[in-house]
Amino acid sequence: MTIAIIAHDGKKADMVGFVKDHINLFKSKNIQLVATGTTGSHLEKAGLQVQRMESGPLGGDAQIAGRLVEGEIDMVIFFRDPLGKHPHEVDVSMLMRLCDVHNIPLATNQAAAERFVQTL
Ligand code: PGA
Repeated sequence: MTIAIIAHDGKKADMVGFVKDHINLFKSKNIQLVATGTTGSHLEKAGLQVQRMESGPLGGDAQIAGRLVEGEIDMVIFFRDPLGKHPHEVDVSMLMRLCDVHNIPLATNQAAAERFVQTL
């Protein structure tokens, strides 16, 4: 199973904490993590192993969407910052639409993500 991990800048610290809290569960279930570039580098700095795509504004969300369409992503956890402006909003919308098209679970905040991991 592969989970995509994405966080807007204002939520990256929360995401690092979230992944740290659940890394043992992910490892025990042999779950692979794939992340957008900057989110991924924050996770790596925290000692977590993750496959990194491009940075979101440079197409990382689009790369994850492409993988999802190919059937390679089983869940998306995206800590969105609803108070920020994002130059790649169209890519984010595309990714969320494709989650719905392909019936892939998408958590857009930490409360939803916590519920999701309880199902793993
Ligand atoms: P980033 O991208 O991890 O490279 O910052 C996240 C995003 O799509 O906003």
